[in-house]
Formats: sequence, structure tokens, C-alpha cells
Amino acid sequence: MSRVKPHAVCLPIPAQGHINPMLKLAKLLHSKGFYITFVQIEFDKLQNSGLSTKGINGNFQFQTISDGLPPDNQRGVLDLPSLAYTMPVHGLKSFRELIQKLNSADSDSPPVSCIISDGGMGFSLKVAHEFNIPGIIFYTLSACGMLGYLQYEKLIEMAYFPLKADLYNGYLDKTIEWTPSMGTVRLRDLPTFLRTTNPDDIMFHYNMESAQNALKTGNLILNTFDDLEKEVLDILKSKIPNLYTIGPLCLLSDQICEPELNSIQSNLWKEDEKCLEWLDTKEPKSVVYVNYGSFVIMTPKQLTEFAWGLANSKFSFLWVIRPNLVEGGSEAISGDFLNEVKGRGLILDWCSQEKVLGHSSIGGFLTHCGWNSILESISNGVPMICWPFFAEQQLNCLYLCKEWGIGMEIDVNVERSEVERLVKELMEGEKGIQMKEKIVELKNKAEKATEPGGSSYIDFDLLVGKLKGEIP
Ligand code: UDP
Repeated sequence: MSRVKPHAVCLPIPAQGHINPMLKLAKLLHSKGFYITFVQIEFDKLQNSGLSTKGINGNFQFQTISDGLPPDNQRGVLDLPSLAYTMPVHGLKSFRELIQKLNSADSDSPPVSCIISDGGMGFSLKVAHEFNIPGIIFYTLSACGMLGYLQYEKLIEMAYFPLKADLYNGYLDKTIEWTPSMGTVRLRDLPTFLRTTNPDDIMFHYNMESAQNALKTGNLILNTFDDLEKEVLDILKSKIPNLYTIGPLCLLSDQICEPELNSIQSNLWKEDEKCLEWLDTKEPKSVVYVNYGSFVIMTPKQLTEFAWGLANSKFSFLWVIRPNLVEGGSEAISGDFLNEVKGRGLILDWCSQEKVLGHSSIGGFLTHCGWNSILESISNGVPMICWPFFAEQQLNCLYLCKEWGIGMEIDVNVERSEVERLVKELMEGEKGIQMKEKIVELKNKAEKATEPGGSSYIDFDLLVGKLKGEIP
């Protein structure tokens, strides 16, 4: 009896930290026999040439839906608040039309059998409902981050939200109940969209509702592993009957993905490939890798402090300065600085982070605490210095530093002396050695979770069964 191939439509938020894990999940499902449609919105279609199916013969396609943004909306910097307004209306309409097209008689693909939606694209589950097919949310953040967004309702009840203008700073030290082992957390540790005095703030409400909606569906996929976030996962599991923890996806992919899928790439910026050769010339564990991901914007002053902190540490460093990282440009990188770090400092626009973190010369990672960066660092046993920027990065940082002991935080008002001190501690200090031991333990646990018989491996099999309709 011939069976129709299952067809999963994957809809990420159009940002690097969301596209990467969704693409990994799509490739994993493809390796389990799914036909994949990976959806972009116009925004990333226009700015990005990185997504391609070069070398893949069929069964994996990219499609585009409308973002509803006006043509003059500035392309190049993702305008999250505008998207939060337009996607649930324009995006929904365009997504529905796409599913109709994919299901039409003249479509080359099998009928759509399930929809996998980013937590921030939850509107697409309406379409799953209309077409009577399973829809499931994939939140690409940490379990602790998810729990953070689930506190937003409580913040309104406790009248902690919106912040009062004159009390803004003091308010952030107020605490709310968290997990049994941590007790409480401060408002400044929670996802930063609460930092507003506007009761109607779109990002606060969008994030609150997205998390609540994900809960209501009773099914959720997270890119984490049980041994890492056990306590928080126990809380989430008590609320969500089918919670699939399938991370770190970078390791699970190594176990399961077909090698030919490596040619499908998702970088929104062009990677510098020479940096790996440069790393080959360095001693093992001797280089600090510095990267703030795809969203961080900093001031020229902050850039200067990082620069001279790195220079004064005397360690070698590989520093990614994205073209739109610095407000007003990165002129703060002066000739004096470049002379000072000649031969031991390499600066570039973008790199293949997973390859860099996997290189034997990397000894530490100065990161903004994006969840993918953290998982990639754990998967490679690289301890971290944390400079969280926004969203749930502050919570991730709290867990890295206080709970897991694999990170040290730099103050938001970064100073060169502090950068120098922490880099030295990370690379050659007592604390650095302890962090290294702890992160190697976590790396081993992450590997175990993603091997056959491990918690993430098993959960992924269950997810596949669910999406194929084999498990109710
Ligand atoms: N990344 C990369 N090269 C870079 C910077 C980032 O490949 O130069 C990738 C990184 O490996 C990760 C993603 O981009 O998978 C960033 O996601 P993360 O959650 O860490 O941060 P975000 O960009 O969402 O703030």
C-alpha cells in the first residue's frame, strides 16, 4: 500500500536566532521522511540570499508569505513591534493562501499534514485548525525564558506592570516567586519587554499572549534538554501534557540529519571563512571568541570599552562586529587599537559560529546570552562571559552564572578594566578552571541526551510519531 509522504510546513520568526533552530528541526524531520516547506516572510527574502536548497533534489522547498509592512519600512533591521501588528492579520491571510496553494490540485507537493510554528507566529495555528491538521508551537527560547513570559500575567495582577515612570529603577529590584530552588527572581531578571511605562505596550502583550497561547495548545517543542533545565521543565510539564525537549538541536542534528542537508544554509550575513584558518595558527584554548548575535545594538562608547578591555587582556581574540552592531558605525575601532592587537586580534562581520565554537583554539566565549549561542557553547564545552542585552537573555545569564556556574556577567555599563579582568579570569583564573569543568560535565550530559536512548532523542521520536499521526 503506498502512503502519502507527510508534509510539514515550518514557520519561523524571520530572525537568525529563530530561523537556525527551525531549519535544524526541518532538516531533522526531512531525515525522518517528511516533505518540508520552510516559510520565509518578505522581510528576510529581501535581505537574505542565504537560504537555499542547492543540492537537494526535491522534498524541501522555500516559500514566501507577505509581512504586510509598508514598502518604505526600513529593511535590514527587523522591526519587531511592526511585525507584531501586521503578522497576525496580513501574515495570517497570506499564510492561509499558501496552505491553500500547497493543497491545490496543481501543487507538486503532497497535501500539508502539519504546521510547526514559532512561538511568536502562533496565529498560524488558526490555519492548522481550519484545515483540520495538527499544529504545534516550537518556542526557540530556553525553558526558563518561557517560564519568564508566563509570569507576565502575574505582573499585571500584582500591579508591577506597567512600570511607574518615577520609580522605574527601583521597580526592577522588586521580586516575584520563581522556582523552589531559586526562590524568587527580580523584575530585572525577567524578559525585558516588561520595562515600559505604557500599559498597551505591543511587545509586552504580544509576548504574554504568545506564551499563554502556547500553553493552551497542550503541545510544545523546546530546544533544551532535561538534565539542563530540569526544575523549570517540571513546572512546564505540569501545565503542558506533551512537552517535547529535543535539544541541543545542534547535537541532535549531528546524530540524525542526512549529510546532504548540510548544503541548506540559513545565514542572513555572509560568513567569513578565513577565520578558521587563522584559528588553526593559534594554540589550543588560547583564543577568546566575541559575538553578540544578530540583534544587539551598542553605543560607540561600549564598543570602545570592549575593544580596549580585549586589547589590555593580552589574549588573542576573534571578534565579530556585525555591520549594524554599533549605533552610528564602528569608527571607535581606531588605528591605535588595531596596531596594539596586530597578529592576535581578528575582527570580522559574521562567521559560522558553530564551526568557530567547535575549533580547538577557542578557550572562552564573550556572548550576549542568546539561547542558541548558549547551547552551541555548552555543546562545545566553552565557558562564557555574559553581556545580556534584551528579551530573555537576562534570565539565561542568571542561569549561566548562578545555577550552572558556567558564566560570569559583565555590567551593562561595560568598562574596559572589567572586560580585561573577566577575560583573564575566564582564560587563566581559578574561576575559569571551575567553569570549564562544569561546562564539560554539561557537554557530556547534552551528548548523552541526544544519543539513541537519551531524553532528547526519545522525545524527538515521540514528536515524529505525533506529527505523523501515529501517536494520538
Ligand atoms: N551566528 C552565526 N554567526 C555569527 C553570529 C551568530 O552563525 O557571526 C548564529 C549562531 O550560531 C546562533 C544564531 O546565529 O545560531 C544567533 O542566535 P542567538 O539565539 O544566539 O542570538 P540572537 O541572534 O537571536 O540574539
